[in-house]
Amino acid sequence: MSARTWSEEESRLRTAICRVGKLSYDRNYIVGADGNISARMSDGTILITPTGAMKGFLEPVHIAHVDMTGRAMDDGPKPSSEVGIHLVSYQERPDCKAICHAHPPHAVALTIAGVDLQTPIIPEIIVTIGGIPTAPFGTPGTPELPETIRDLVRCSDVMMMQNHGSVTLGANLMDAYKKLDMLEHTAKILWLAHVAKGGLEPLAPDLVNKMLATRSKLGITTRNTLENQCGVDPPR
Ligand SMILES: [Zn+2]
Repeated sequence: MSARTWSEEESRLRTAICRVGKLSYDRNYIVGADGNISARMSDGTILITPTGAMKGFLEPVHIAHVDMTGRAMDDGPKPSSEVGIHLVSYQERPDCKAICHAHPPHAVALTIAGVDLQTPIIPEIIVTIGGIPTAPFGTPGTPELPETIRDLVRCSDVMMMQNHGSVTLGANLMDAYKKLDMLEHTAKILWLAHVAKGGLEPLAPDLVNKMLATRSKLGITTRNTLENQCGVDPPR
């Protein structure tokens, strides 16, 4: 399909994917040809960044268009090799309309160092996101990787993949990007605190519960792995 025949929705989403790609690249959440960004159209098909591309330099015509099995809708650009992460997320979450997969350095480093981002420490994150769980290691480029996040995706809009990267789900592209932005900012604060203090202390459970109780009053409905432990191993 050429630019001439794109619907208004398709043109808008292709442009928005490029914008989020540039933001992610400029903020160092992805480098080289890392990461991928997608959006689900109202007909159920997926627009996604192409394989091997640097996300800071994309034009709308570079975006790939696939169906819910990952099959190309046209003879245009080929989708990212990590398209499976996106397909699993859209399968499990009919409410999800956009996904950012990135390699935010502080957040990935903390998974490598074994620092649990799910630990409730920062009030803003407890209230808005709830928790940041980490999926077990999966080999990139294989069907194993998307399956590692399937349980967590049902339970959380924000998650890490061990030693690899982040997945954030949104009601639209800016929402998915906002969660990536918040995730890496959280990781930076925890990193600094970890270095300064030599470890991280969770907030007391009664404080955490008080904050979680404000979510319903504030109308916050993001899926919350702190409250329900859904998809997360129970604390040891
Ligand atoms: Zn990746």
